[in-house]
Amino acid sequence: MAITIKTKAEIDLMRESGHRLSKVFDIMKEALRPGMTTKDIDRIGEKAIRSLGGIPNFLNYNGFPASICVSVNDEVVHGIPDDERVIREGDIVSLDAGMIYKGWHSDAARTFAVGNISPEAEQLIRVTRECFFEGIKMARAGNYLHDISNAIADHADKYGYGIVEDLVGHGIGTHLHEDPEVPNFHVKSKGPKLHAGMTLAIEPMINAGCAEVDWLANDWTVVTMDGALSAHYENTIVIRDGDPEILTLVGDY
Ligand code: MG
Repeated sequence: MAITIKTKAEIDLMRESGHRLSKVFDIMKEALRPGMTTKDIDRIGEKAIRSLGGIPNFLNYNGFPASICVSVNDEVVHGIPDDERVIREGDIVSLDAGMIYKGWHSDAARTFAVGNISPEAEQLIRVTRECFFEGIKMARAGNYLHDISNAIADHADKYGYGIVEDLVGHGIGTHLHEDPEVPNFHVKSKGPKLHAGMTLAIEPMINAGCAEVDWLANDWTVVTMDGALSAHYENTIVIRDGDPEILTLVGDY
């Protein structure tokens, strides 16, 4: 599939989808507390998506059984919400959510602290978010896709973190996953040239320990091979001639 260039009218709809998704994150962030289950978060997130006029795009995607991916501590991504899984003080919880609004997809992720967490966990969350912002400094027309990847990887490397290579960001539009793939690790080739109107979900997944990951028996949940913490930060953005616009970030987190 070729990389698609969105028109202004299409980007307006993607912005509407993204801004609504950012409200879903406001609601989930506000609700997250020790003692609730990962399924509670999924229910709250799905209800928010639907009440904002969206359709959860993760639900039933390749058979995924929920609307929100809820990944705790050493879980990298694709944690399956579970009525038995209780969130505890000191956990870090990665929430990945997306919606379809008037046919247009948005996709974002954040890792949140539950109560007091260790300084190491705080740093991992902060640096993972910074990796995204370092990456999008390169996300402008005329640059190349792997400029983004290399900027993300340079920042993670400063801290000796493990960069997940088995999963990557992606193009997004009328489909959740479109071309191109957006690696978070160093790539020697330039990759495709960036053009105004390309829409990308850029999503560093950064581990406090090694880069290697494993899949749980459910074949969805990705965990760090060494059991170290992992954080995730993602936004849907649109490439422009100057700075990109972040479509899924309205507030400051
Ligand atoms: Mg994504």
